[in-house]
Parts: sequence; C-alpha cells; structure tokens
Amino acid sequence: MPSIQEELIKTIRDVPDFPKPGILFKDITPILADAKLSVRVSEALAEQWEALQLTSVIGIESRGFIFGMQLAQTLGVAFIPVRKVGKLPYKTIKHSYDLEYGSAEIEMHMDAVKPGDKVLIHDDLLATGGTAAAAAELVKKSGGEVGGFSFLIELAFLKGIEKLKPYHHDVRRLVSF
Ligand code: AMP
Repeated sequence: MPSIQEELIKTIRDVPDFPKPGILFKDITPILADAKLSVRVSEALAEQWEALQLTSVIGIESRGFIFGMQLAQTLGVAFIPVRKVGKLPYKTIKHSYDLEYGSAEIEMHMDAVKPGDKVLIHDDLLATGGTAAAAAELVKKSGGEVGGFSFLIELAFLKGIEKLKPYHHDVRRLVSF
C-alpha cells in the first residue's frame, strides 16, 4: 500500500493563481471525495497526538473544522471553532494579526478555553504561520497552554514553523511541499 504521504501528494490538487495571482492553492477537496483516504488521514492525525494529555482541539475556519472535529472526537476531547470575526454567537475574545497586505482578526468563545487547559491547534495547511500563531494567542489570552500544532500540509519554503516555535516545539504535518 502506498504511504499516506504518497497518497496525499497524488491527491491534493494544485490550483494556480487562487485566490489571487501568484498563489498556488493546495485544494484538499479531492481528499474529502475519497472516503478511504479521509479515514486514513483522520487516523494518521490522531496517532500523532494520542499519547498527550490534551483537553481540546481548536479547528481554524473553515478547512480546519473538517479534520479538526474528527481529531477531537478520536482523542475524546472538546472541539473549539476559531472563526473570522462576526460569526460566533456568544461573547468572544479576539486577536488581530498582520497579513502580507493588511490585517485579519479571528475570535473564539470566551469560555471555550479554561485556565490550565492544554489545547492542540489544527488547520489544513501551514503557510506563513500567522493564523495558527493568532490562534495560539487566543489560547494564551484565555489562560490555557498550547499543546502542539497539527496540519495536513506544510508549505516549508514559507518557514511557518519558525513563527510557531515560541508557542510550542511540536509542529506536525502529514505532508510537506
Ligand atoms: P498562514 O496564516 O499564512 O499560515 O495561512 C494559513 C491559512 O491560509 C490556512 O487556513 C490555509 O488554509 C490558508 N492558506 C494559505 N496558503 C494556502 C495555499 N497555498 N493553499 C491553500 N490554503 C492556503
């Protein structure tokens, strides 16, 4: 059987110039279309964190929700959605961060992370690391601790890992481009 890395490299679809010129978008929908591969991905993600005593998994809007929720269920812990501002109904805490051009803001329910919680941060893809670092700031603002970072894909040339290291040394991904 091909390794999960081989399967992912074969399956992830490159879409040039989306959402803007010069960006090579890594489209994970062909993974979702393959039920067997999706199960393999879920299992491989969960295996990486089984031994740790985590209290919750953050999934970052919106592709981080897909495998993040499954990861939380397999680990038997809470799932926490982190979203762009204005989408969550209850009281929230926010964090803004710089993008290549301009800035962005994400938020989380104020009672989602409690002091002492150990939270895994999950998204589909690690690019510059700005989004995952902003999620880590939300965990810190709530008095929680970052327990690690989980991605399907890393774009290694953008060196996002460097931005995440101050929060936790354990940054894992299934495949790197
Ligand atoms: P960053 O904050 O730069 O690490 O960007 C990460 C977020 O942007 C993730 O939620 C990704 O889904 C998305 N993203 C950034 N670059 C790409 C790309 N080349 N292909 C797919 N998604 C991307």
